[in-house]
Amino acid sequence: MGLSRKIASNLKRSAPPFSNSISASSEALLKPQTSISAGSAKPLASLSLDLDNQWSYMKTHGDPGWNKFPSYFDVFIPHVLDTLDQLDLKITFFIVGQDAALDKNKDALKLLPERGHEVGNHSFHHEPWLHLYSKDKIKREILETEDHIYRVTGQKPMGFRGPGFSWSPALLEILAENDYVYDASTLPTYLGPLARMYYFWTSDLTVEEKSQRKELFGNFKDGLKPVEPYSWQLPSGNQLLEIPVTTIPIIKSPFHLSYLIYLSRFSNSLMQFYLLLAIGLCKINGIGPSFLLHPLDLLGGDQIPELAFFPGMDLTGGQKNEIFNTVINKLSKHFSLVSMSTHAESILKNDRLKPVKPA
Ligand SMILES: [Zn+2]
Repeated sequence: MGLSRKIASNLKRSAPPFSNSISASSEALLKPQTSISAGSAKPLASLSLDLDNQWSYMKTHGDPGWNKFPSYFDVFIPHVLDTLDQLDLKITFFIVGQDAALDKNKDALKLLPERGHEVGNHSFHHEPWLHLYSKDKIKREILETEDHIYRVTGQKPMGFRGPGFSWSPALLEILAENDYVYDASTLPTYLGPLARMYYFWTSDLTVEEKSQRKELFGNFKDGLKPVEPYSWQLPSGNQLLEIPVTTIPIIKSPFHLSYLIYLSRFSNSLMQFYLLLAIGLCKINGIGPSFLLHPLDLLGGDQIPELAFFPGMDLTGGQKNEIFNTVINKLSKHFSLVSMSTHAESILKNDRLKPVKPA
């Protein structure tokens, strides 16, 4: 059973104290720190990066040439690893099976465990309509990806995140049957349908492609799911820990780095206020956030001109790295930032989990 599986704890690492620039008035928003993890000064929060490659953005957008699987890993992976080393962070990278299957990505992917990070499963084909697949097809997606990740990195993934936040009851059963410790596919927000409208509006998809993608980024029901981690109670009797991508408690609007970068284009102070609101409401509600990153949060339009259509690609890599450092510094002030498996281990040990049935 998934929950009883022993989690390796060698990735456990606390973030160092950072100097910070939060003003006294903004700081007053935040309660004194409470610990949700025994023996730790700060509550835990997890950082994960969905390692979406250049081709998967092109494919979702309907651009030709994606099927040659163009990759930016050679540039991106060494860069993000150096950035994380400078901040003394160990995080979780969710890897797409198709990338792990290709020889050209092997050297870059091998660096992830070598530098102390966790690897997770992000499906094989990275199709955000994974929830429409049959159980057999989902099983192949999970297991083939797992095999390739293991072959390349020597780690068997303990966690899964669906592409485009797609999930289904069949997917959860397969994860539990295959000893996954956690799923991280849900994004409890009402904004998914709005994100889809924006994506349709900026893409060149046919009517048929739009129909296939009609539940992309979730539906309004996802907004009703809990923001805090919970325990899926599956029809088979299996259980599985769910660590949602944290949205702002009560409001349920996303605050992962892509959103923060988008806000910063309007106003840097608005972005910082929004982040402090998210941190404040997480702390008041006793939630250690699971904070999501993407490669395009650190890569600028100057580095990957092919992806100029993506929101935020009018910024340079330098500008994005500055925002990344600001955001990580603010999170580190209030939370110990760890990988998702370390976070999962602490949640399973310390938290009383709400049982939730998939519907
Ligand atoms: Zn992805």
